[in-house]
Amino acid sequence: MNIVVCAKQVVDVSEMKVDSSTKKPILQGIPQKISDIDKNAIEEAIKIKEKHDGKITVVTVGPNDAKERIKELLAMGADEGVLIPYSEKYDYHVVSSLLAGAIKKIGEYDIVLCGEASIDLFSGQIGPRLAGLLNIPQITYAQSVNAEGVKVVAERNMGDKMVTTESSYPVLITVTKEINEPRLPSLMQILGAANKPINEWSANSLVQDKLEPVIEIVELKGVPMERKNIVYQDDLDESIEKLVDSLAKEGVLGG
Ligand SMILES: Cc1cc2nc3c(=O)[nH]c(=O)nc-3n(C[C@H](O)[C@H](O)[C@H](O)COP(=O)(O)OP(=O)(O)OC[C@H]3O[C@@H](n4cnc5c(N)ncnc54)[C@H](O)[C@@H]3O)c2cc1C
Repeated sequence: MNIVVCAKQVVDVSEMKVDSSTKKPILQGIPQKISDIDKNAIEEAIKIKEKHDGKITVVTVGPNDAKERIKELLAMGADEGVLIPYSEKYDYHVVSSLLAGAIKKIGEYDIVLCGEASIDLFSGQIGPRLAGLLNIPQITYAQSVNAEGVKVVAERNMGDKMVTTESSYPVLITVTKEINEPRLPSLMQILGAANKPINEWSANSLVQDKLEPVIEIVELKGVPMERKNIVYQDDLDESIEKLVDSLAKEGVLGG
């Protein structure tokens, strides 16, 4: 089973602050990490490999320092990394075209795994766009994946219902964070990752035409979180009743 996992380097959004006057996120000096759900994708790939044997290749479009993040995924259990260094302006069209070019170059693959969305921009566009460019079926929002010999069966989390879907290979699957608990690599695995290959493939070698973004991010603003400072001081039962009532009115609790 040859598995390709698309993994994105993102800023650690839990460390991000918002400039209170401009409302813009302060991105300088924030640590980078692999988008959380992409670690679930790697974990799922490792589980499939443990069952069927095969090879896991991680592909990342991003700056040169993303190589360090790829090493973390090699330590978890991926076999090989591919970095497509890209520092120009890019959008979903550019990223999915580069990933498609890299996966076509890899050639033999049965499953492409992506996160359902990245933890920073969370558009959820890359997986479906990539499946379109590769002209293969896709299963999105997979909460469980059972790779069998000739087909894969996945349960899709649709919020209020689960939909069981199956596909032949090759297939692209986007996974949710509930699918598994990503493993922590041991010290030996971290040291061993240094010997695993990370190839650098230039954008020019993967796509013939110059890629131009077709979507422009016009503005990026943090959402201010303001406390309402409501204090319930009645007796406990009454306070709980009022709290539940106001949470329901705010839509926090389902009716
Ligand atoms: C320097 C820079 C300039 C940008 N300029 C623009 C711009 O002009 N217009 C615009 O619209 N956007 C711009 N972006 C944002 C860019 O469009 C998104 O980062 C990218 O398209 C991925 O979208 P997403 O994070 O919403 O991914 P999602 O679709 O939410 O991600 C889903 C999954 O796709 C895979 N994936 C996503 N990104 C990558 C990646 N880079 N490498 C490997 N796998 C990946 C992962 O498996 C991920 O879990 C820019 C980003 C950067 C860093």
